Amino acid sequence: MRKFVKSTLLLSLTAVLCLSCLFGCATTSAPDESATPVAVSPEPEAPEAAEPYTYADTIEWDGQYDVVVIGFGGAGAISASIAADNGAKVLLVEKAPEGDEGGNTRFCGQLFAYGHEDEEATLAYWKALNGTHEVPEEMLKVYTKGIAHMYDIAADLFELDKNDFFDYPSDATFVGPMSPEYPEFPGSDKISLNTLHEGRGDGYLWQQMRKRVTDRPDNIDVWFESPAMHLIQDPISKTIIGVQVEREGELVDIRGLNGVVLACGGFENNPEMIETYLGMTCTAPFGTVYNTGDGIRMATEVGADLWHMDTYESAGAYGTASFMVEDGERAAKMGSAYESGSVIFVGQDGSRQLREDAPIRHGHIYRNGVWMNPVVSERNFVVYDQAQADALAAANAIPERFLPQVIKADTLEELAGLTGMDPQILADTVATYNSFAANGVDMQFGRAAETMIALSGDGPYYAYEIRNIIFNTQGGPRKNENAEVLNGFGEPIPHLYVAGELGGICSLQYQGGGNIAETIIFGKIAGENAAAPKDALPVYDASAKESNLRFVPGAVTDIVAAAGVDVELGENEYLGSSANGMGGELTVKVTVVDGTIKAVEVVSHKETDGIGTMAIETLPAQIVEKNSTEVDTVSGATITSNAIIEAVNDALSKVN
Ligand SMILES: Cc1cc2nc3c(=O)[nH]c(=O)nc-3n(C[C@H](O)[C@H](O)[C@H](O)COP(=O)(O)OP(=O)(O)OC[C@H]3O[C@@H](n4cnc5c(N)ncnc54)[C@H](O)[C@@H]3O)c2cc1C
Repeated sequence: MRKFVKSTLLLSLTAVLCLSCLFGCATTSAPDESATPVAVSPEPEAPEAAEPYTYADTIEWDGQYDVVVIGFGGAGAISASIAADNGAKVLLVEKAPEGDEGGNTRFCGQLFAYGHEDEEATLAYWKALNGTHEVPEEMLKVYTKGIAHMYDIAADLFELDKNDFFDYPSDATFVGPMSPEYPEFPGSDKISLNTLHEGRGDGYLWQQMRKRVTDRPDNIDVWFESPAMHLIQDPISKTIIGVQVEREGELVDIRGLNGVVLACGGFENNPEMIETYLGMTCTAPFGTVYNTGDGIRMATEVGADLWHMDTYESAGAYGTASFMVEDGERAAKMGSAYESGSVIFVGQDGSRQLREDAPIRHGHIYRNGVWMNPVVSERNFVVYDQAQADALAAANAIPERFLPQVIKADTLEELAGLTGMDPQILADTVATYNSFAANGVDMQFGRAAETMIALSGDGPYYAYEIRNIIFNTQGGPRKNENAEVLNGFGEPIPHLYVAGELGGICSLQYQGGGNIAETIIFGKIAGENAAAPKDALPVYDASAKESNLRFVPGAVTDIVAAAGVDVELGENEYLGSSANGMGGELTVKVTVVDGTIKAVEVVSHKETDGIGTMAIETLPAQIVEKNSTEVDTVSGATITSNAIIEAVNDALSKVN
């Protein structure tokens, strides 16, 4: 709970004011002789003049560090240890219990992108990845320079011999097609995927990152099961001065003297944010379950702008999707046994979703010249026949715990009934797919002929529901090349930094290894900058003007008067107005000579350009021609026409 030290001073001030009011009221009432004499209070003392203070002084802190880092994953480990190396006392708070820390970094393939010392080629490659979704050049340069020299950076950071690093050739199994992932882009011949030793997915990278923290026990305190809840911000200078952390059921306020680093991952396990930002409702995280978008909530609370909110990496909604795990549970990957055979992927109505064997690049599929995340339905199913069911059983492709979810039916119509699909749409889908299989051409999605086997004309048929896997999201607070969090005006929020996949740099197409590179590159920058000593916080004084807004009590702009029209009227000229234009007030000047309307001019209006103005251009002439306001309104501009007519009638009413 926030404890305002200065509030005691304010309270005593208020109390004095209240007392004096009560005292004042009592003296105005008639004295009551019979009443018990009331002790006369001494004259209230004049309140002490308020001393100048910083906002941080008003808080009774529970602890104080130079730097507070939120999240003990890859980016948090790097920023905390780098801040410590720069002389800072660091608190690293982690939401997960000990043993579950490490976030997605713990689960990841531990591949990092490397640009083989060629800064120019690496920059060109990443520019092409971003396409028209540009990232500021300065930032991109910092990032790609880091990737270009990642061998040196990683060797130095983890005290490893870079000769042990493993560079995956483009023909390597599984990783090869990602090394590089976009061979058609400029600079790609210099991009590869690498690990710190020969071997991936064995946690070696996370061990090295974690060790950087555990090797510095004198300078880094780690609190597990201690989620950061809010950032504490000076309300006037907007400086981030601390973090409110939930620790053993209590909220504690920890001051961060020089900086706070947000490194608490994305929103892979927050269904509401996934629905809002990614437009999907049926997903499962493939990494940690603790990344629930907390950094986004904390950052927006203090005025951060967001970016790359719709960018995420996944396995795609087909052969590498997930079985229907419980809400909030880690994904259970289905494997590739579904990319071939008498099997199709359909949406909730039974229509086919996408190419089942589509090449994927971190879940993005090729569409209209760009590799994009697939659009999936709210509910998604795999549908197959008995032959495929036998093949899946032989390959043990469905783990036992998910077998009860498999729905079996004698006919497609019955299957539709049991799954909630439209029977006609499902029947049409299967018939169309079967014709593609027979002809060897998938006219709908282009699935490879050799992977297509028609579904049997006889049942039974099978279906089960799936989830889309999310590896990691990229969205979060917008940052600059100094890892500073920016507000909506592009200005840094003082003392607040961000690193890792939270507010990641990837804006469109993703090169594998780019996220780990980002945790390292921006983890370092955030750690260094957060540790750097800062200017003293602004000092406030109760009597000082703390707002640049000019409040003049009673000074309300008279917008009605401001809207008045200043028109000089000559002989036989009359002003008329109507308040019923599309944009409000419309004023006309009408010339009337001997009972004849000689001229009508709209002298002021706020009508819609191209619509209302059609009436303004034509109606006055018609009124003059007919010498009457009984004219047809202009089609599409009826409101403006009627306002002109009303205004002219108003002017005519003033003719003697
Ligand atoms: C299966 C898988 C494989 C991947 N393989 C690769 C790969 O080979 N190469 C690559 O570049 N990328 C890969 N990625 C992506 C990459 O792992 C992540 O983007 C990267 O590790 C993110 O690091 P981070 O430090 O930003 O976040 P994380 O490592 O996710 O760490 C965030 C930490 O913050 C904690 N946290 C959350 N909320 C709070 C809070 N309120 N208070 C305190 N702590 C909090 C979390 O518990 C977590 O420990 C993979 C992802 C997955 C899931």
